[in-house]
Formats: sequence, structure tokens, C-alpha cells
Amino acid sequence: MTQYNSGASRGWQPRDRLLHPLCMDTLTKRSAEELASADSVSWHAVQARDTTSDGRFVYAVTSTGIYCRPSCPSRKPRRDRVRFFDAPDAARAAGFRACKRCKPDAALPADPWIERIRRACVYLSNVDGHPSLATLAARLGGSPYHLQRNFKRLVGVTPREYAEAVRLRKVKGRLRQPGDITGAMLDAGYGSSSRFYERAVPKLGMAPSVYRRGGIEPLETTAKLFDLTLRSESHTLKRALTDPRLFSGIGNAYSDEILHAARLSPMKLTSKLSGEESRRLYEATRKTLADWTSRIREETGAGFPEKVTAFRKGMAVHGRYGQPCPDCGSPVQRIAYAENEANYCATCQTGGRLLADRALSRLMHSDWPRTLEELEERKSKKF
Ligand SMILES: [Zn+2]
Ligand SMILES: [Zn+2]
Repeated sequence: MTQYNSGASRGWQPRDRLLHPLCMDTLTKRSAEELASADSVSWHAVQARDTTSDGRFVYAVTSTGIYCRPSCPSRKPRRDRVRFFDAPDAARAAGFRACKRCKPDAALPADPWIERIRRACVYLSNVDGHPSLATLAARLGGSPYHLQRNFKRLVGVTPREYAEAVRLRKVKGRLRQPGDITGAMLDAGYGSSSRFYERAVPKLGMAPSVYRRGGIEPLETTAKLFDLTLRSESHTLKRALTDPRLFSGIGNAYSDEILHAARLSPMKLTSKLSGEESRRLYEATRKTLADWTSRIREETGAGFPEKVTAFRKGMAVHGRYGQPCPDCGSPVQRIAYAENEANYCATCQTGGRLLADRALSRLMHSDWPRTLEELEERKSKKF
């Protein structure tokens, strides 16, 4: 069945008939009345010289032996001399000739917007920055309004959305390759980092370096990225800082020291963190890691210790349960969970409040991947 008949048969099928592929005989055994209805839809199109019906059917005139497109500008035929055909082939097979005026065998005239929109896509895929709709229209011809409308009609999204999608695809590709994030960002056509972070980062769902490596380097990151990474999941601060998918190489010991330096509770949820607290945590992270890096370098003459999670002499709270906090003298507290413990100073970090060990241990436990397998599984979900 062609577009013409099946399309026309919709809507006026008697209710007890099923329009189902297995019931196609309902279409082939249509009554004379139904065919007349289908013809009447076509007849209206012919009378209106409806260009949108071109390509859907042709009509033939028995007195002239000629068939036409619905929109043919020739004199309108008499109703009783018109026959409808789904396609020019069928009209020819019935002995009719093509009209020389409307050329019903020729392909439909091309949509004049197709070539223009194609050029718009090429341009948007290669241009730096964000050309305005007016700029785009001036370049391609046509009003901004019609450009926007036809772009959406043919591509399915606005020019702006298209440009965003192209950039996002490019930056994703680039982030998977070696090189710096700024380079990837610029290559993808994000003219400024504020644009990039405003537009691409929410779509990546995480900080770009996280997307790339599975954990940002705290000493190389910006406050903004640190914040985005921290808040990408709601967790306790202790968990977030030690999650290798989020931050590279902080680990258990340094996270205690960082939280103490930032005066933040290890149990605070990342979703509850204020902007100021996030900033404070960022500064404390950098300062703590930088201090320890230089201290260990002095001691060993080596580079940055990749995975130091154990207690080191000179730490403020980590591994010092019950001993006095170097800043305020209060005894250092602990929360034991799994095979680890978190150390903190109640006076410096929780407003003097003791974090009840057993309940928190449960919370910490539920906030933690229990096994390496679980961690890997979460990792693969995210990447
Ligand atoms: Zn014609
Ligand atoms: Zn203290």
C-alpha cells in the first residue's frame, strides 16, 4: 500500500476494523464508499493546487490522457474525468502521459533551505566561539527568524544547541587523548574557560579531569573544579576526599589532616557544604599536600610520595587518637569504620560535638564501597 492510500484510509475506518499489519485486507477490501472518501481528500488537494500533496499522488484526466501533480497550474479538470494514482508509474501503466507543464515524473524541487542549513552545520562545526543567530543569518542569507525555524525543522535542534553538541563531542574526544584540558577546551571551540565550565562541565556530569583520568590532581586544579568534583556526588567529606575516582592520591591520612586544617567535620555532607566552606577546603587541601610534599622531599630527597596513607610524625590528628590537638590541646577523637579510622578534633572541627562512634561508623560504612569490586562497579557506572 502506498502512502496515499494507507494515509487516506486512516481516520475514516469503521470502528470495528483493526488497523493492524495482520489485518491488511481491511485496506485492500475497502468499500466503494471508502475509496470515494479517499478520492475526495485528493480531490480537495487538486482543487486547492496543494503543493504539500505533490509526491503523494498524481491525478489523470481521462479526456486528455494526461496525468499531473496535485499542484499543476493547468485548468482544473472535471471531477468525473479524474482518476487518482499513488505514483506516476501507476498512471503510466494505465496508459496516461506525463503533463509537460508540471512534470509529475521529475523529482520534487529541492527544499531551498537544505543546502543553506547544511552550510550552517559545517560552519558551526568549525567556528570558534559562539556566533549569534544574526551573524549566522548574515553569513548564510535569510532572516534570523527563518534560519532558526528551518534549522530546527531540518536538524531537529536550534543552531545553538547544535553548536553545543558538536563542541561537547569534540571535547569528549580530546579529553580521552593525552594533552592538557585547556587545549582540549580550546580545540573544541570553547573560547573561554567560563563558557566551558558553564556549558560543557554540567553535561560531562563531572570535572573534565575526572572524566579523563578518574580523579583530579588536587595540586593542579582550580577552586571551581575542586568544588564541582567534590559535589558531583553527595557523600561525607571524609569519603569524598578519599574517593580515588574524585581526587587522586589524597588517601586516609592526608584527608584527616586536610579536614583538620579546614576546620570541617569529616561527617559533613558535600551537598551541605557552603561556598565558603568549599573554598576553605580547597585551600586546606592544597596547603596540606604542598606542605607534606616539601617536608617529605626534605626528608627523603624523593619526589611526591604517591600513596602515603600511614601516620607520619608531625601530623596534627591522624593516628593521634587521645593525644592533644596541636592547635587547641583537646584530645583527638576517632571514628572507626571498616578497617580504618578517621581522626578529628572536636573543638577545631565539630563545634565541640563528639561524633557518636557506633552510629557514625554505620553511616561511614554505608557511605563506603565495601569491597574493591564494589568500587570498580561504581567506577564503571560513572565512566
Ligand atoms: Zn500538469
Ligand atoms: Zn583542635
